[in-house]
Amino acid sequence: MIKELQLRVNLKEEETPNILLIKSAENLGMSRDKISGIKVLRKSIDARKPKIILNYKVAVYIDEPVPKTSEYTFDYKDVSKAKPIHIVGFGPAGMYAALRCIELGFKPIVLERGKNVQDRRRDLRAINQDHFVNEDSNYCFGEGGAGTYSDGKLYTRSLKRGDVRRIFENLVFHGATDQILVDAHPHIGTNKLPKVVQNIRETIIKYGGEVHFETRVIDFKIKNNKIHAIQLWNNAELPATRVILATGHSARDIFYLLHNKKIAIEAKSFAMGVRVEHPQHIIDSIQYHCSGKRNELLPAASYSLVQQVNNRGVYSFCMCPGGFIVPAATANGEVVVNGMSPSRRNNQFANSGIVVELNAAKDFPKYEHFGVLKALQYQKDLERLAFTAGGRTQTAPAQRLTDFIEGRLSVDLNPTSYQPGLKSAPLHALLPKLIGSNLRQGFKAFGEKMKGYYTAEANVVGVESRTSSPVSIPRNENLEHPQIKGLFPCGEGGGYAGGIVSAAMDGERCAEAAAVGL
Ligand SMILES: Cc1cc2nc3c(=O)[nH]c(=O)nc-3n(C[C@H](O)[C@H](O)[C@H](O)COP(=O)(O)OP(=O)(O)OC[C@H]3O[C@@H](n4cnc5c(N)ncnc54)[C@H](O)[C@@H]3O)c2cc1C
Repeated sequence: MIKELQLRVNLKEEETPNILLIKSAENLGMSRDKISGIKVLRKSIDARKPKIILNYKVAVYIDEPVPKTSEYTFDYKDVSKAKPIHIVGFGPAGMYAALRCIELGFKPIVLERGKNVQDRRRDLRAINQDHFVNEDSNYCFGEGGAGTYSDGKLYTRSLKRGDVRRIFENLVFHGATDQILVDAHPHIGTNKLPKVVQNIRETIIKYGGEVHFETRVIDFKIKNNKIHAIQLWNNAELPATRVILATGHSARDIFYLLHNKKIAIEAKSFAMGVRVEHPQHIIDSIQYHCSGKRNELLPAASYSLVQQVNNRGVYSFCMCPGGFIVPAATANGEVVVNGMSPSRRNNQFANSGIVVELNAAKDFPKYEHFGVLKALQYQKDLERLAFTAGGRTQTAPAQRLTDFIEGRLSVDLNPTSYQPGLKSAPLHALLPKLIGSNLRQGFKAFGEKMKGYYTAEANVVGVESRTSSPVSIPRNENLEHPQIKGLFPCGEGGGYAGGIVSAAMDGERCAEAAAVGL
């Protein structure tokens, strides 16, 4: 017999060996020897009150063994001689499109502009140390896409769009910790993600798929509104009838290409702002009601904040407890920041994007002449402004949080995790009013919600501009571009995902769509 229970465990109890067994037996009014095992189904932390509680949902196995295997299987077939589906981009969308193709009996041929995870590391070092951005291999481009050197946070709001559990199980199948199946806010960590991504690539190749790195796609050959070939950076042409376009939100050359070829794209609303960095102990003390060090049983604390300011949302985005701010530009001449964390989230800083919602229909009047590329151009200009204000390297412009809000240049800045370094700059005056003024009001409200958040010990760093795509690529109910047969816009670049899990789910869906009638 299996009984599901909700158990509440305080931090003192958590230190007791077999506490879940003890509590389950008490709860069921039975002897402990009757219980053959306990499987944790869900774990979350309730830190709303000073007495912190760990909430467990458990399955208690009574007189029957705990099953060892997952109910999910991945039925990969040899597809080496099967019909091909071409996939452009090897981020989460491209990776999961490729895996799904194999399950469906088609051969994925992946074309990725960046390098494999190992070689990509060298280019990340060059950005951090030499301030040089390789425009094909950086924090956004390369094996695993923008998700590889990230926090690997896996929560998604897209629960209706697909089977989230299947994606999690597949990540575990490829080497992620099975803790992600249990945690209410699962994450993998940037030190573990490269191995998972490499294992996915190895599965694809083992079953007969192909993955080509340093293979940038520069054009699509179209006849009678049907795709028939892909052109590569060296002008080689690959015949292709089904192409999943999973190039992410930073592949501006792809947006320009589609626009120049008169293949419909649309301006999309998105959000931009800054990244704020606090010492982790400040966030811990606010969230866990403690002074000094947090209890060792607790992870680095996170937060999620949202405030309506002048009828638009100002909110925290991609919060990285115990993490690092990273330079996420994809070209020289721009500064873009984002965040990542190692699996243990044990760095001394907590950072988060704090961004303002921007509406593509009304917020860019001076950019109207850019047509569907107006939001992209606005984003680009802000990134160039950050580059100039940072001193024309990957050094990022920054200000103490209190100075940003009170409108004065910072005399000096706090220590930071951002490796290329920070330069004091008057972000309060440099950012467009639409962003700067709403951010300042948002931060004030956050300081009210989290006492201690508004502090001179925090820096704001510019600019957080790649929250989602400023362009979307339309598709019909068959997930095909309405004008071009055989072209399947996919993942975050198309506007169909907003993170690792939703991109992976969209990749699977696009593979299923591309396989129809092949
Ligand atoms: C630093 C950082 C941290 C993040 N942290 C998280 C997080 O913790 N949790 C989360 O859910 N999301 C996070 N994100 C966002 C997440 O990574 C993206 O939402 C997700 O990767 C989108 O997946 P995708 O496959 O659609 O696109 P991408 O991951 O952007 O992949 C697109 C791929 O296409 C390739 N490509 C582009 N153009 C071409 C071309 N012309 N030819 C061939 N290949 C091309 C690129 O090199 C890239 O590898 C983070 C992003 C960054 C940058």
